[in-house]
Amino acid sequence: GTALAAIDAAIRIIPDFPQPGILFRDITPLLADPKAFALAQALLLERARSFSPDAIVAVEARGFLFGAPLALDLAVPLVPVRKPGKLPADTHSVDYGLEYGTDRLEIHSDALARGARVLLVDDLLATGGTVRAAADLVERLGADVVGALFLIELTGLGGAERLAEAHIGVSALLR
Ligand code: IMP
Repeated sequence: GTALAAIDAAIRIIPDFPQPGILFRDITPLLADPKAFALAQALLLERARSFSPDAIVAVEARGFLFGAPLALDLAVPLVPVRKPGKLPADTHSVDYGLEYGTDRLEIHSDALARGARVLLVDDLLATGGTVRAAADLVERLGADVVGALFLIELTGLGGAERLAEAHIGVSALLR
């Protein structure tokens, strides 16, 4: 509807970032537009509620921007999944392949209760590698991934299919 059009209009495409041939979706204009940001957050909250999560697991760094307000609104714990060497206590870690390069993600070993219903949150789904890795971490702690929520899903890169293989349903405001 018109709300989604307003959100879409606040996302800018930067060609050849971070490398030639990539059309990078830049969400900073959305963050700088409180009306559009609030609209996006309200629609994400509606989606998030439908999963009845016990916890929000948000992926560094842009996932924090969207995941934190959801956790507050739903009154559930916010659990950060971070790049290596950032979390101070005992961690679990996983290596994964990215659209551009490889990386590692970590989670605090005591961050989730066994059996907790976890909703994964990130800004954008591309190949699904990042959220697949985050899901692996959640499952290693004995919690259950009930879904993955994004502001943007880039179609044609196999992200939703890759998550479906892991029985993770995808919800995204913009495709
Ligand atoms: P995936 O692992 O291939 O699904 O890539 C998704 C991850 O890369 C997310 O954490 C995104 O923040 C980041 N990412 C990939 N492409 C873009 C983009 O065009 N804009 C913003 N973030 C992106």
